Amino acid sequence: ETLMIRTQTGSYPIFVGKGLLPRADELIKDVYSSSYIITDSHVAPRYLNELEKTLRNRQVFHYIAEAGEQSKNLAEYNRIITDMLEKKLDRNTCVIALGGGVVGDLAGFVAATYLRGVAFLQMPTTLLAHDSSVGGKVGIDHALGKNLIGAFYPPAAVIYDTATLETLPFRELQSGFAELIKHSLISSPDFYQELKKAIPERSMLTPDAVGSFLIRGISVKAKIVELDEHESGPRKFLNFGHTLGHALEKELGFGTLTHGEGVAVGSLFALKLSEAYYGHPLPVKELAEWYVRLGLPTKVPDGLTAEGLMEQMKYDKKNRDGHYHFVLMKSIGRPETRQVPESLVRGTLFSFMNHML
Ligand code: NAD
Ligand code: ZN
Repeated sequence: ETLMIRTQTGSYPIFVGKGLLPRADELIKDVYSSSYIITDSHVAPRYLNELEKTLRNRQVFHYIAEAGEQSKNLAEYNRIITDMLEKKLDRNTCVIALGGGVVGDLAGFVAATYLRGVAFLQMPTTLLAHDSSVGGKVGIDHALGKNLIGAFYPPAAVIYDTATLETLPFRELQSGFAELIKHSLISSPDFYQELKKAIPERSMLTPDAVGSFLIRGISVKAKIVELDEHESGPRKFLNFGHTLGHALEKELGFGTLTHGEGVAVGSLFALKLSEAYYGHPLPVKELAEWYVRLGLPTKVPDGLTAEGLMEQMKYDKKNRDGHYHFVLMKSIGRPETRQVPESLVRGTLFSFMNHML
């Protein structure tokens, strides 16, 4: 299946399907003098060889980063740029990201900045990357925070071989599924109900089952990005569940919770906060029960304080004015961005932390 995404910066195709990796060469229309594949230590032994074999370019190089968020930093970025310069790669190089969101963000930032920008291809291999590979946000972390150095740099194409999901650890599948659920929550009650019906619990959460909903999840993101590429309005809706989610990831130390686990707890909190803000009931319990059946967390992990989380949420990258901004949900499928009074955030967080849904 193919989906076109059209933004002011340009259009690019998103190819989604099983077995696309060995066909990558046909799908890449432009001819580049060389390809530079950036991947990680978990993905390389499984898929790098297969990809290299299919590329017809004159020269194919690769760089294997250590798997994990800690590779998304300036030091690794510098090592890659140095390697590319030493190899004398010119502006007609194509950087290919083969991996999850970490590799995609890192490789995209390399592509955006190497010689002021070279071609970039996304080849996602995680479920979460249905989100991260679309939309053109690329970047690396700084010691003072996640994703603080970056660019908007859309890829020339996204080639998503869903067969690669077969080797993904189950916890990573759960993580990406939480983000897919978020896409359903912000888009329509029908999508949400269908997803819940098709994948009601963890034994049903398989790459095949999820695969049939991927295009829909990607379309939700693609439509929002088309409306608002640089995040002045509706693109903020994609951050539903991320305010508390990021705070949890940060307070616990990155890598303790997966991104999707943070988003799951954060989405529940945001829904509960919406209930308090609008004053009408929302399906908080129903969503919590689904997460439990999927094996996703529903609670703030022990050892964290409400005050610590309040601080983190206040200084969220997107909340620079010292107020609390949240994506709330008037009803499923109707997200809105609202400034929420501190007392309401605190009160809701207290009862949430005391497991009252
Ligand atoms: P990840 O890239 O670290 O991948 C998760 C784990 O799975 C890693 O250990 C990886 O080596 C392994 N892996 C990947 N593909 C595999 C496969 N097919 N088989 C076996 N193992 C495989 O993490 P992620 O969850 O994909 O992405 C998280 C990152 O994405 C974060 O850094 C986050 O900031 C970023 N992100 C970016 C955007 C964006 O718009 N740019 C959006 C959401 C998230
Ligand atoms: Zn996310």
